[in-house]
Amino acid sequence: VKELGMPDRAIVTTCGYCGVGCTFRAEMQGEQLVRMVPWKDGKANRGHSCVKGRFAWGYANHKERILNPMIRASIDEPWREVSWGEAFAHAASELKRIQATYGRLSIGGITSSRCTNEETFLVQKLVRAGFQNNNVDTCARVCHSPTGYGLKTTLGTSAGTQDFDSVEQCDVMMVIGANPTDGHPVFASRMKQRLRQGAKLIVIDPRRIDLVRAPHVEAAHHLPLRPGTNVAVLTAMAHVVITEGLADEAFVRARCDWDAYCDWAAFVADARHSPEALAPVTLVDPPALRAAARLYATGGNAAIYYGLGVTEHSQGSSAVIALANLAMATGNFGRPGVGVNPLRGQNNVQGSCDMGSFPHELSGYRHIADPALRALFEADWGVPLDPEPGLRIPNMLDAAVDGAFKALYVQGEDILQSDPNTKHVAAGLAAMECVIVHDLFLNETANYAHIFLPGSTFLEKDGTFVNAERRIQPVRKVMAPLNGFEDWQVTQGLANALGLGWTYTHPSEIMDEIARLTPTFAGVSFAKLDELGSIQWPCNDAAPEGTPVMHVDSFVRGKGRFVVTEYIPTDEKTGPRYPMLLTTGRILSQYNVGAQTRRTANTVWHPEDLLEIHPHDAEQHGLKEGDWAKLASRSGETTLRVTVTDRVAPGVVYTTFHHPATQANVVTTEYSDWATSCPEYKVTAVQVSPSNGP
Ligand code: SF4
Repeated sequence: VKELGMPDRAIVTTCGYCGVGCTFRAEMQGEQLVRMVPWKDGKANRGHSCVKGRFAWGYANHKERILNPMIRASIDEPWREVSWGEAFAHAASELKRIQATYGRLSIGGITSSRCTNEETFLVQKLVRAGFQNNNVDTCARVCHSPTGYGLKTTLGTSAGTQDFDSVEQCDVMMVIGANPTDGHPVFASRMKQRLRQGAKLIVIDPRRIDLVRAPHVEAAHHLPLRPGTNVAVLTAMAHVVITEGLADEAFVRARCDWDAYCDWAAFVADARHSPEALAPVTLVDPPALRAAARLYATGGNAAIYYGLGVTEHSQGSSAVIALANLAMATGNFGRPGVGVNPLRGQNNVQGSCDMGSFPHELSGYRHIADPALRALFEADWGVPLDPEPGLRIPNMLDAAVDGAFKALYVQGEDILQSDPNTKHVAAGLAAMECVIVHDLFLNETANYAHIFLPGSTFLEKDGTFVNAERRIQPVRKVMAPLNGFEDWQVTQGLANALGLGWTYTHPSEIMDEIARLTPTFAGVSFAKLDELGSIQWPCNDAAPEGTPVMHVDSFVRGKGRFVVTEYIPTDEKTGPRYPMLLTTGRILSQYNVGAQTRRTANTVWHPEDLLEIHPHDAEQHGLKEGDWAKLASRSGETTLRVTVTDRVAPGVVYTTFHHPATQANVVTTEYSDWATSCPEYKVTAVQVSPSNGP
């Protein structure tokens, strides 16, 4: 402010980083953003913020922003700047040529969870209406796709059940596979506040996360399980609930499918599922597990909060189902303070899923195979739709390697750095004839691109994001797009070069179309968002002002459905060559692959990814604080600086994936969730050895 002078105007908008969705007042001097001030009336943050939203916005003006479209004939050639018109015409001609040569199914697109609902909706519409297939997917594939599957299967809808305010009425907080202090810092503060008021805490995580040791938090139950055994731990907890008579049978009889419950209860009650019987698998102390299960079932309102440590496993969907089973069996649904709550990672990962970014679903999580549903969209869009589900991201890459998939439009994602098994992703991209990257910077994926379409930041556009509590929030243009176009206009330019004839003049018109076609958004409009500030979906005639708590009188699917989840060990095994287990996560000051935060002063807090190793293992491997270590797996190897800490258990190492120099995903495997193909980032057998550095 000192350098730039005092602001002369302010615009209220939503943070572009994480799924908490903090509201900020962007203070401007002319066209220059001076500072971001957390907004006291923000429903998700109530005037609070973290170091990302508050300080890490300078990337918007970073000198490495690409502002002009570029094309090149092959990835070995230099880029050539072209006009927008030439870029759109070239992209359309390449996509048409490829489809004419290799068939309708040879191209696809990926939507971005950093973009607005309106922008992701247009990308999936481009694929379905323009490409004439359903080869569209979202980066949620690699994070919360098991949440979509697991919660829809059991409860009937693919979203968290409660609002953030609900935490204030919970008596027991069960946090599994999440590290809110780093991943969702503003909501973590509210969790800590509730814990300081006396709520009890259960943490199920291989690492001793910050919450376990938060000041003034009463005796937390920390279950440090072996990575990859969530389902076994949750089955053992359910065993305690059922065999000790702690289930809420009145709730189950009234609200759930009783026969399915009986099958599930008989399964978990089996002696082979006791905490003692499963301890050799989970490495969790049986008395500690029993105490945690009793507390969860009998401690009053019990709320589950979970993250990618649940979903990014070969049994990610099973674990989400197991959480829903446990909550149904104990009656923890339908009122404030309870529920099953995924802590969504990116600012709009919930929204990108809501908008129909999955290859089998149109907006509102409705299956593409439904003829009546297709007819609704066909009448609105004026084109026939393919009834067959399309390819998921990993299937697109596999098909590319096999020669059947030839072109990809990537909106705001760096799949080379963020997706698992980097070598395989690179091979898939290299095998394509046309990769279109639509992004702010020449990211790692752009190394394989033939067409680059410049993107705009959240500061340069109007639209909406949906946060982790289903809250639709306005995003308002703070400054004119540096490249001349908001992202929805770029997608519209490409669509019209393909002959689709779109005529949107403002994102509010796209939201009107979303509302027209999506029952959970039926009552949403920009005018209503201006009036109410934000709206939690479902918002329709039955709930004109939105829905903070879901499944109040009945589950969305009617009766809650228990599903048996048998623990099946991952195929990723430790052995003499790869004796340790690697698990990954993030740190407060950085965001995902770091494309934005690395281009801000936040880098001073985390200039490189570190490898956490237990003191016992460090000694055994001849490593000490600050040494370099080689981290090798069956997929690849990288070099990281070591930090010695007892946050991780012996036999487990941990790192983050924010820096391309490290490329932690070089070592992660191809194993993935059985139901959704979400990669198993959280379990990789590795070998650690001293190194002289990269
Ligand atoms: Fe809030 Fe998340 Fe943005 Fe931090 S990164 S200010 S917690 S929305």
